[in-house]
Formats: sequence, structure tokens, C-alpha cells
Amino acid sequence: MRIAIVGTGYVGLVSGTCLAESGNDVTCIDKVSAKIQILQAGKLPIYEPGLLELVQRNCRESRLSFTSDLRQGLERAQMVFICVGTPQADDGAADLSNVWAVGEELAQFLNSSTTHKSSPLLVVIKSTVPVGTNRKLHDLLASRTRASFEVASNPEFLKEGAAVEDFMKPDRVVVGVRSAEAERLLRELYAPFLRTERPFLVMSPESAEMTKYVANAMLATKISFINEMANLCERMGADINDVRRGIGHDARIGFQFLFPGPGWGGSCFPKDVQALIAMARNVQVPARLVESVLAVNEAQKRVLGSKIRAHYGDALAGKTLAVWGLAFKPRTDDIREAPALVLLDELIAAGVSLRVHDPEAMPNIRAIYGERLTYCDRPYGALEGADGLVIVTEWQEFRNPDFELMRRLLVEPVIFDGRNLYEPRTVAGHGFKYYGIGRLTAKPGGPACSTA
Ligand code: NAD
Repeated sequence: MRIAIVGTGYVGLVSGTCLAESGNDVTCIDKVSAKIQILQAGKLPIYEPGLLELVQRNCRESRLSFTSDLRQGLERAQMVFICVGTPQADDGAADLSNVWAVGEELAQFLNSSTTHKSSPLLVVIKSTVPVGTNRKLHDLLASRTRASFEVASNPEFLKEGAAVEDFMKPDRVVVGVRSAEAERLLRELYAPFLRTERPFLVMSPESAEMTKYVANAMLATKISFINEMANLCERMGADINDVRRGIGHDARIGFQFLFPGPGWGGSCFPKDVQALIAMARNVQVPARLVESVLAVNEAQKRVLGSKIRAHYGDALAGKTLAVWGLAFKPRTDDIREAPALVLLDELIAAGVSLRVHDPEAMPNIRAIYGERLTYCDRPYGALEGADGLVIVTEWQEFRNPDFELMRRLLVEPVIFDGRNLYEPRTVAGHGFKYYGIGRLTAKPGGPACSTA
């Protein structure tokens, strides 16, 4: 099929590339021409594992191309996917200005296109949008053009850091359609990705739009729940890791997404949870649980800072701390709403000097913090002369470090582990004072014994 993708960010680029990989002819469009130039030069404007090779191969084989000219990109398309950003507006609702801008441009294109007088253009909304957006986009297009079109919804569930794998082998594909023909086209397009009997779920556009918000709210709820329980464990003399294992074996609960940490962030959960609350407010339905999930998370982003303040007391100003991990999660360079940002701001304000390391996110962090931080290419380099180590993101390479080397490099052997990467007893055995999230602490050299 001939496909256009409007918005070549994390979702648009991954979706377009994977659709090209399955044999479609795909043009990715973006209004930021600098991004298009990077892609045309065979490079990536973002970090996403496994993506570069796919982009290069599909460009070489002429199935994938990039342009900042919407008209040129749409010229031959049978289907256009809208993958533009839908950030948070000041009132918490989703800001749809990018979607409406694309709608206006699509209408202009349709008015001048001879192709779509007879054969309809299928416009597919992949961006995360509030319930009712599909209908509104349909009405906007219908008021501007007499050309033939249909608007479908196809929310995206990929995870940054595993986006290619998620798109290629989705748990499910959800489509919201109003006609059998739209369903047929989308079913055909996704068939290569669903060969292992993964479901293709057809519903109304409104249900498809709602599904995406409910999925993200559920995932955010799981994390906020375990974070709240972790904080409680600390006060009760229990260890969240034991409790987590104790509940996870119950098949009704399971293990996934029940790892405590310094709060959830990223480009989706914060804005989508806020947008869901705004939707509920608009229709005067209470969303008490989701509001609490958000409030718990705001507080959780400050838990690491509290532990650091409690440890150093009045001596905090003037200390130097090493920070490992800045991206909102491992395997991405995305720092949107990352918990690390809250911590960095807090520590800078407290007069702490910071030596930071992240395998991929440092250019994005530098763009915000400039010379206020010391950027270290290697994790151990960040420890040199630092008074302690704070771990914010659980990159794989932090999991099995050389504790002896770390102890030699740090001025004081103390680790604030925001991801519970280490066993308190093991770290204490290496002579460290250790603070986890909801873990029992251990005296350096002794067994796990007291709460943090
Ligand atoms: P992004 O910011 O990385 O990319 C969006 C792109 O759209 C940008 O490159 C921007 O320049 C472009 N754009 C905006 N307006 C445009 C216009 N009028 N014409 C052409 N290009 C335009 O955003 P993203 O992370 O890819 O997210 C896109 C959507 O997908 C959002 O609604 C998001 O909530 C949703 N989503 C994101 C993820 C994720 O993990 N990032 C996962 C599922 C769903």
C-alpha cells in the first residue's frame, strides 16, 4: 500500500519504518525540516534501538522516503497516518493544535487532488487524542472538502526503548472505524504483524480513543500503587521487594509494572493521565482514583531528594553527587517529564554540584542545563571526587558494577538507588551505606536489619 505518515517523531518514524519493512511504500512527513534533513542523510534524529538499520535498509530499497512538503508526501497515498504530538495544554487537556493544523492541510490537499475525487483517502489518527477527536476531524474535513475520505482511529501502544519490537509484534492492534472498507484496509495493512494470532480489535472510534487513555492510566496506577506501598514498607519495617514477590505470584496480580522507583515520567503517562482527568472533568464524572495516581506520582518524584537531604542534613550545600541515568527510562534518549529533571532542579537549588552520566540522554539534558552540570562520558568517571551516587534510570550497564572501584572513586561510600538495582546486603558487604525505595537497609558490613 502507499502510505503517508504526518509527524515523524518517535511514533511516526517507527510506524512508517516498520510499515515500509513489511513491503509498503511509505513517505514520512514532518514540518521540522532539520529533522527531515537528518533522516535524508541516513541518520536518526532520535535514539531508538534497532531503528537505524531498518531506516537505512528501507531507504536503500526505495520503500521509505522523507519530506517536509506535505503535498508531495500525500500525492500518491491511499492512507495517511497522523502521528503528530498532542502535548498537554495549560488546563491539563490535550493540546490538539497540531492535529487541527494537519486537518486544514489535508482539506486543502483533498480539494486539489484529482485522485481522491473517486477513490477515498483513509485518514488514520495514531496520535493519542481525546474521545470525540475522530468525529471532530471528520466534521472539519467534511466542512472544507467534497473529496472522498474516511477518518479511522488506530491508537499506538509501542514503548520507547522497545518500539520496533512492539510495532513488529504488537500485543494487539486496536482500530476504530465507521466502515467495513476502512476495517478491511487496516486489517490487510496489519496482517503481517499479527501472524502469531495476536488480536486485531475492531471497535468504534470513540472506544479506540478511550482505550489508549485507559491503558496508560492503568499502567500509571500500577506504578503509583507500588510506590505508595514501598513508602509504607519503609515505615513498617517491611521490604517491598519481598512484598512484591509475595503478591506477584498471585496470577490475578502478576509482576509486570510493579517495580517501585522515583516516579513515572515520559512523553505519554503524565500528559495522558492529565488529559483523562480533563475529559472526566468536562463531563462532570469524578476521576478520584486517577487524580490520586497523579498526586502520588508528583510526591514520588521528590522521594530521592528527601532521602538525600535526610542523609546529608545541613551539610548538603557544597556536596558533589554523581547521577547515573537521566532519560525517563532506559534504552531511550527521551527526557520529557523525566523524574531526573525534578531531582536535578532540587539538588542544584540546594547548592549541590552534579556529575551526570546517561548512555543516550546527555545531549538532550545539556540542551536544558548547559554548563550547570558536569557531563561524564563514562559511569565511573562521574564518581571521581563525588560524595555519593544517585541512580535514577535503570540502564542495563548499571546493574552489575565494580563496587570496589566505586568505593575507591567516591569520597563517601553512599548509594541512593532510585531503582532498587542492588541487594542492600550485597552493597553493604562492599562497605556502602545504601538507600533503596522501600527496601530494608543494611549496616555497612552487616546483614539487612533496619528500615531506611
Ligand atoms: P514527537 O514529538 O516525537 O513527534 C511528533 C512530530 O510531529 C514532531 O516531529 C513534529 O515536528 C511533528 N509535527 C507536529 N505538527 C506537525 C504538522 N502540522 N505537520 C507535520 N509534522 C508535524 O511525538 P511522539 O512521541 O512521536 O508522539 C506522537 C503521538 O503519539 C502523541 O500523541 C503521543 O501521545 C502518541 N504516542 C507516543 C508514544 C511514545 O512512546 N512516544 C507511544 C504511543 C503513542
